[in-house]
Amino acid sequence: MDHTRMDDIGTDHTGMDIDALRKDTPGTANRVHLNNAGAGLLSRQTLEAVTSHLELEAAVGGYEAADQEQDRIDATRTNLARLLGGRPDELALFDNSTHAWNAAFYSLTFEPGDRILTGRAEYGSNVLAYLQTARRSGAEVVVVPDDEFGQLDTAALTGLIDERTRLVGVSHVPTSGGLVNPAAEIGRITRAAGVPFLLDATQTVGQFPVDVTEIGCDMLTGTGRKFLRGPRGTGFLWVRSEALEYLDPFVSDIEAATWDGERGFTWHDGARRFESWEASHANVLGLDAAVRQALDLGMERIGQRATALGAYLRDRLDALPGVTTYDLGRVRCAIVTAKVDAVPTADVAAALARQGINVTTTVPEHTQFDTEVRDVHPLVRLSPHYYNTEAELDRAVEVIAGLARTAG
Ligand SMILES: *Cc1c(COP(=O)(O)O)cnc(C)c1O
Repeated sequence: MDHTRMDDIGTDHTGMDIDALRKDTPGTANRVHLNNAGAGLLSRQTLEAVTSHLELEAAVGGYEAADQEQDRIDATRTNLARLLGGRPDELALFDNSTHAWNAAFYSLTFEPGDRILTGRAEYGSNVLAYLQTARRSGAEVVVVPDDEFGQLDTAALTGLIDERTRLVGVSHVPTSGGLVNPAAEIGRITRAAGVPFLLDATQTVGQFPVDVTEIGCDMLTGTGRKFLRGPRGTGFLWVRSEALEYLDPFVSDIEAATWDGERGFTWHDGARRFESWEASHANVLGLDAAVRQALDLGMERIGQRATALGAYLRDRLDALPGVTTYDLGRVRCAIVTAKVDAVPTADVAAALARQGINVTTTVPEHTQFDTEVRDVHPLVRLSPHYYNTEAELDRAVEVIAGLARTAG
């Protein structure tokens, strides 16, 4: 694919009508939004799905609105299953990705000497959960090293898996860079070894195609608000139905289980045993609208354009004197991290913000194992999505080039 020449206006080479998509994305009129790894801009359709349900709740009552919209609310799991390749009953809805991940992770049991294998790119909250579990149970956390590309070393992983391994937990794409970990290769290894594989796909779902069958993971978590462009306060867990045999839900709830009439209870069929009864239906319907939009546009095309825009931006930043990019991996995505050698990262982000360009900065404590190895954070994190244009990326590059020139 030619990364450097994309039509800016109108229809790009993936066949997406970028002008129309931008018209349906109100925020594009106000900002150059390069913070899709933080929260993607809502489309008009998603916004309308959320607000119309809130209005319905106000008009007829919250429970009554839920009754009226029950089929559409339930369809969210079906549409997520279409997006991820699983089955609707393998999906549970949450208010964020961390809670979804916790529901899977804390439902595993660990004994002294058990091992959790993870990677350097693992997300901050997951790492803290591993450390807490290690402290509680006497299990051991082992960080699989990177290979020469800076992605998880699958040969090292194969060598480290043994009878003590209770879990392989990996972040597909880290919060702190453009790396895409070799998830399907990891899945082949864990399936051959019969070890549970929990994939944190929070930065992945909505950015490029993710198929649980192709990857071969047992549990996968995602969030609504990032590249999927759903509302804040949404997330989901996919659990392979076979994994329910070894997962003992770490909390119960009247949505998760049924009272048997005696002093007993039975878990709900499928992944709903991980859900709680109360949820924001407005947000769920917003998530559903965002998922349907991703399905309609096609994840293949979305992934191609988002990745190409990431590469375009990375190449241009790399070419600037006094600017360095820090994205690891053989395969890289739409997340771009950089530093202006002579300017503090916070000042770079502030300068971009003054020009109406939304970016964020990486936090050393949010990728602890990466920070142990690479003392590079904070970095400026720029994360375009398919609705961004080359011209917007050029503007960001220009601002950064100006800072580098002045400082240099
Ligand atoms: C953002 C992020 C999370 C947390 O998602 P929330 O929805 O904020 O809980 C987890 N993992 C990765 C890799 C992330 O980037």
